[in-house]
Order: sequence, then C-alpha cells, then structure tokens
Amino acid sequence: MKRALRGYAGPVFTRLLKLSGALLIVLTIAGDVLAQAAQLHRNLLVLDSHVDIPLDYATDKKNDPGAYDAPLLFNFDTAGQGGYGCVFLIAYTPQGELDGKSTAEARFRFAGNRLDGIERMCAEYPNRAALARSISDVKRIRAGGRLAVAIGMENGYPIGEDLSLLSHYYERGVRYLTLTHNGHNRIADSCNPPDRPYPSGENPDADATRLLRDLYLAEARAAGPPPPLHNGLSDFGRRVVSEMNRLGIMIDISHTGPATVEDALKCSAAPLIASHSCCRALCDNPRNLTDEQLKAIAARGGVVQITAVPSFISFPAGKHELQEALLGKAGALEAGYDSLLELYENDRAVYDKISSRYLASVAEVDSLYPSPGLSEFVDHIDHVVQVAGIRHVGIGSDFDGGGAVTGFAGPADAPAVTAELLRRGYTPEHVRMIWGDNLMRVWGEVEDVARKLAKK
Ligand SMILES: [Zn+2]
Repeated sequence: MKRALRGYAGPVFTRLLKLSGALLIVLTIAGDVLAQAAQLHRNLLVLDSHVDIPLDYATDKKNDPGAYDAPLLFNFDTAGQGGYGCVFLIAYTPQGELDGKSTAEARFRFAGNRLDGIERMCAEYPNRAALARSISDVKRIRAGGRLAVAIGMENGYPIGEDLSLLSHYYERGVRYLTLTHNGHNRIADSCNPPDRPYPSGENPDADATRLLRDLYLAEARAAGPPPPLHNGLSDFGRRVVSEMNRLGIMIDISHTGPATVEDALKCSAAPLIASHSCCRALCDNPRNLTDEQLKAIAARGGVVQITAVPSFISFPAGKHELQEALLGKAGALEAGYDSLLELYENDRAVYDKISSRYLASVAEVDSLYPSPGLSEFVDHIDHVVQVAGIRHVGIGSDFDGGGAVTGFAGPADAPAVTAELLRRGYTPEHVRMIWGDNLMRVWGEVEDVARKLAKK
C-alpha cells in the first residue's frame, strides 16, 4: 500500500506522510501530557498561596465568588475547573502612616473588612468551601469535596505595636502574615517605598489609574530602595516573629527588604515562606529573591511560592527604557507642570488628554515587548529548583491582585501549569510537591514548632 502510494504520488506526498506522522506523534504526546495533567489534578492537592480579594467581598454580585458572572479571576467556577483544593485568600492592608490613629483606622477598614468578607463567603457557601485552620483541616475539607480556604494576612501594619492582636488574628484564622507590604511598618523594613494612594473613587482597572500606577512605579524605581527605618526587623518585629512561632502563624517575607529576610531567618524557630515572589536572577525587580536568599530560605526548610505577576517574571531593560522615555515625553508637556503626577493633581482635563496619548503609545510598547507567558512563569519554578531544590518551591498566583500571565491567567489554567511541568520532565511526585505538598510541609513544621513551644 505504502509503495503503491509512493509510486503514484511521488516524494512530495511521502514527505507529507512523514510530516503528518511526526505531527501525529507530537499531537499524541501533547494529548498524553494534557491527559496525564488532567488525571494528576484529580489526585493531588492544588494549593495557591496568594489570591487577593476586594473590599466588601461576598456582599454583592460583583464581589461574590459564587455569582456566575463575577468579574473575579478567582471564583468557585474557575477554582473548580482548575481543580483547586486549597486557597489562601488575603486580608490585605495598604501601608499608611505609622501613628496610632491611622493604624487603628486601617485595621478595621482593610484587614477587618476583608476578614469579615472571607467569613461571610464561607458562611454563605457551606457546601462549597470551609475555613481551614490547620493542615489536617485542609485534608478533611478537601476529602469532603469542598475548597479549603485558608487566610493569609498581607502587611503586619494593622498590628501596630500591639502584640496581643496576633492572637486575635490567629483566632480569626490567619495562618500566615506577610510582615510588610510596600513601605516600612513598625515590624520591619520593606523592599519598596509605600504605594502612592490612588484617588478614592477611581476604578482600579481604568486606563487612567493604570497610568498612575506606571507613573508611581517609575517614580519609585528612579528613587531606588527606600532609606532604612529599622535595618531589618525592629525590636518589636523580633517579638512579633517569636509570637508568630508560638501561635503557629507562618512568617511570610514577600515584600520585605533584604535585611528583614536575614533577620527573620535568624530569629524564627520555624521555616519561612515567601507567599508570592519570583527570582531576581531572572528578573531584576526588588520584589524578587536573590539566589543567596533562595538558598538561605531553603537551608532553613522554607518554601518560595512563585507568583504570576508579569513585572516580577520579566521586565526587559529595553521595555523599561522605552516606557520611561514615553513617560518623559508625556511629562515634558505644554501644560507647564514638572510631572504627570503633578498635572494629575492639578488639572484633570489636560491630564486625561495627555494620558490617552500616552496609553496609545503604551500599546505600542506592549506589542514590541509582549508580556511574559506560562513558559516564563515556569522558568522561575525551574530556577528555584536548580538553586534551592525541588522541596522549596510552590505557587502563589496573586490572582485578583495583579497576577495573571497568558497561559496561567486564572485558576482554570492550573492544569496547563502541570502540563508544562510534565513536559519539562518533572515527575508526578515533583508536581505534587510544587502544587501544594511543599507548602503543606512547611505549615506542618510551623504547627510542630508551636506545639513544642507550648510544652515549654
Ligand atoms: Zn503582594
């Protein structure tokens, strides 16, 4: 049959046949990997250590993870499609002034509001989700087919200088605390200056707000690292770390400055986590961890959860320069202000005109330097594995907080991450470690340390 065809159709046809055969093999392998990934997903714990929630979570259709058309990347539908078994929802507080009054206000307005939201969500959907206070809770809730919701508190700012608040937050279910956000607090130094507050009432997704975010970032980059306040952990911060060890709250060093990471490694009796960070060697962003930091965290048994925030995954120097130049051009304007920020604050009409011009050129930048995708995201996982070992890496997407790349754009894409890992030669056992077992091991060790300290 083959010979007859060859005789009839000649070499072109033969080549086509060979090509289609090769294609078939490639497709079969790709299909196998996807099928294997899907199969694996049914049998492993998919744990995402960092998913943000809006204020007033689970109060109306817009912020309700059970609403069919909720605009949140993370909702019950997408979590189900991705096979999520455990998620850390985040009670985030932006950094504010360090005085007692500002701290007390922020405590209720942000951390308190979001903790209420998580409780409300679990109460509204008892058949779909439940709060996990321990690793055995995660296993039990998952075995019952529900989503285990754990809580991470991002920024220790609401604690102010009141150590007793840690017990309060522990009682409410907080199982990790990110010591700082952007900006120093009473506990420790951050790797970044505080974010400039967006004007109230602005839609955070609006183009004008995104431009502001770019401007603030450019400003922060130009200013360099913030001058230290404590040179790492403050004296109070050391007591916070000890108290977290005693209670069994994981210490999260994402967002903290290098001296804070060093101090936390020295002070903590339990391993540390980085709930959402990437590798500095692959992307020079102050939020990312150097190889030395990766090794030091691993040496103490900790875990680094790679995040899907595009500017942490890759930010080529050329893109950076072009963006700055465009910002400069947009800023050197006829309006007579020194910067776009100043213009924003003084003349919205002219600002809006200029910002739309700038945003049009940003689209050009985006086409010249496309955003990173799934492959670049997994490169960061590879890097931690190479530098620190397979036991010390996990995934913390930062969905609904700036995380999302093409190919891992929401929880539903989790099997695609697994498929990419399998394609790169990771075994099912490796994938299991990356997706959840590593973080669960660290959480378990943190629980053990708390139990031991309680016996003393
Ligand atoms: Zn963050």
